[in-house]
Amino acid sequence: MQGMGMETPTTSRWDEVGAMREGWLQGARRVVSSHCDERPAGVIPELVVVHGISLPPGEFGGPFVDRLFTGTLDPRDHPFFAQIQGLRVSAHVLIRRDGELVQYVPFHRRAWHAGVSAFQGREACNDFSIGIELEGTDEIPYEAVQYQRLAAVIRRLRERYPAIGPGRVVGHCHIAPGRKTDPGPAFDWVRLEVLLGWRPGP
Ligand SMILES: [Zn+2]
Repeated sequence: MQGMGMETPTTSRWDEVGAMREGWLQGARRVVSSHCDERPAGVIPELVVVHGISLPPGEFGGPFVDRLFTGTLDPRDHPFFAQIQGLRVSAHVLIRRDGELVQYVPFHRRAWHAGVSAFQGREACNDFSIGIELEGTDEIPYEAVQYQRLAAVIRRLRERYPAIGPGRVVGHCHIAPGRKTDPGPAFDWVRLEVLLGWRPGP
């Protein structure tokens, strides 16, 4: 990818992600969240749910997503935070606008990202999915590095959880229609599938 206005650091490539060890991606910044629990017995991840998040809404780069997912958001920092204070939510991974990867929950545990949801008639998607947040909004195009990182993370997940394949990467909007809209129309599903090799490129 060229001309996207991002410098690729020499220490890592955006399209590479460290191997998984004990449920954690090596190289991701680790921020341990207690907002998780055990998956039901015998259930392993077979779905990836893509989300969009920004805190405060529409603002990027602050520390507030980490704080939301660790239960340390201070309502005095922004009026919106009073509305979501006390929510016990999380995701496995956040991919920030600059491509930084943050992991909150190991993949074998259940993160709390999907809420009331269903995939192909199967309810409670948290049980059998991995939640990946992209820092963004429904309307602002996501960054090239975020697509590359997302594809790289999914490739790593497939090594461990081969059921995650074509048709098994969906948006929050797809599993909770009418209730959730993220990652929104700004997210380019074709672009992701091309990066994953699941459809031919242009
Ligand atoms: Zn979501």
